Amino acid sequence: MAVQKNQCIPLEITGLTSEGSGVGRYEGEAVFVPGTAPGDRITVRIVKDCKRYAYGIVDKLEQPGPGRREEDCSICRPCGGCCFRHLTYEAELEAKKDIVLDAFRRIGGLELPIDQILASPQEDRYRNKVQFPVQKDEQGHTVAGFYAGRSHRIIPCEDCLLQPAILNQIAQAVCSWMDENVVSPYDEASHTGLVRHIFLRRGTHSGQIMLCLVINGHSLPHSEAFCSAMLQQFPEIQTILLNVNTQRTNVITGLESIPLYGPGYIEDTMCGVPVRLGPLSFYQVNTPSAERLYALARQYAQLKPTDRLLDLYCGMGTIGLSMAQDCADLVGVEIIPEAVESARQNAARMGVTARFLCADAGQAASQLAAEGLAPDVILLDPPRKGCDNATLDAVCTMAPRRVVMISCNPATAARDVRYLADRGYQPERLSCADLFARTKHVECVIAMSKAE
Ligand code: SAH
Repeated sequence: MAVQKNQCIPLEITGLTSEGSGVGRYEGEAVFVPGTAPGDRITVRIVKDCKRYAYGIVDKLEQPGPGRREEDCSICRPCGGCCFRHLTYEAELEAKKDIVLDAFRRIGGLELPIDQILASPQEDRYRNKVQFPVQKDEQGHTVAGFYAGRSHRIIPCEDCLLQPAILNQIAQAVCSWMDENVVSPYDEASHTGLVRHIFLRRGTHSGQIMLCLVINGHSLPHSEAFCSAMLQQFPEIQTILLNVNTQRTNVITGLESIPLYGPGYIEDTMCGVPVRLGPLSFYQVNTPSAERLYALARQYAQLKPTDRLLDLYCGMGTIGLSMAQDCADLVGVEIIPEAVESARQNAARMGVTARFLCADAGQAASQLAAEGLAPDVILLDPPRKGCDNATLDAVCTMAPRRVVMISCNPATAARDVRYLADRGYQPERLSCADLFARTKHVECVIAMSKAE
């Protein structure tokens, strides 16, 4: 055993983990230290020793690394949402590139150079969606904020730097209104109280705002006065809704939404695709960054005018629809019925003829393969757990010329790319895109082509 609990040792931070923690080596043992930057020389206090590795906290920052900067949010440590506020943006991008390369090397056994790393056009205030939980603080005031790591204790946050200022201001106004009108926040322990979350969306291009209160009930007292008060302060609000969630659950939204004002959705565009967003729609949270990513995916697809395109895990269809003009035929597959309905409406508004199937990607792909569908290009944009083998096997059976995978989890992407590589799909290009600046998340996109 190289280190012991409470021992203080000198350490140089040499890298960052995919969880955003700094890591250095002491006598061969990896020591993980949150809030540190590559190149930092620190004195670390060991808080937990797990034999072959250990966890520590900074006792003293002896010499800052080249990528370190002053943190610009006073609650980023307890909040935990932004684990890279102490890094310059260049250092953060470099770290994310290394995280992706490392996953492809270690998990995929693939040595692929990074073609591009697409920076987020905005480092701060880029999010188009926020869900603030609400609670009473010790003085009895309603506060909105974020749960501290691994807890349901709210760290109040009046101005989250990831959100547009107006969304923070609306949340503060809702809290004040609740106090003035004696509308209680929900209390998890007793399953009483009304307002669980303040859920806001803002269309980045349209500027339209959706205000939704997720409530433990079916109505809001003084709801008309609530709408008037909010609309008077914030004319950008296009629609106000209640979302009903009366379950004892960590899931934020329920299935039922009740519009109080406006159409119940907002409109925006993504890569020129017109979209309608309600409380339940999946939509990339950083629109300008997602547009860069989808534009690169479009380049990687190398579509020809006669091509048939299959978009698996298509959500509301944005990626495939953004490429519809490049090809002859588009089929999308998505498991959530509301998203499929949105995809159909988006296609109709664009005047694009496309087919959207509501099904599990693997089942639909196997079925389509059995029916003899032979797409020339397949897009894969799976959730964090990646693709299942049924999906990947069906992709191989359909034998497209090219496969483009977009993934929010480099580990499962590396695994799935390896699976396809072993079945004749050569990975050609790998890029990263930063859709979640300041946080640990990183997106990657891979172009593969069928070996001759
Ligand atoms: N391509 C879309 C959505 C990507 S997120 C976009 O860019 O907006 C991943 C999507 O996969 C989600 O919409 C999710 O509902 C869907 N999904 C998750 N599991 C699935 C499955 N087994 N089969 C099909 N779709 C699935």
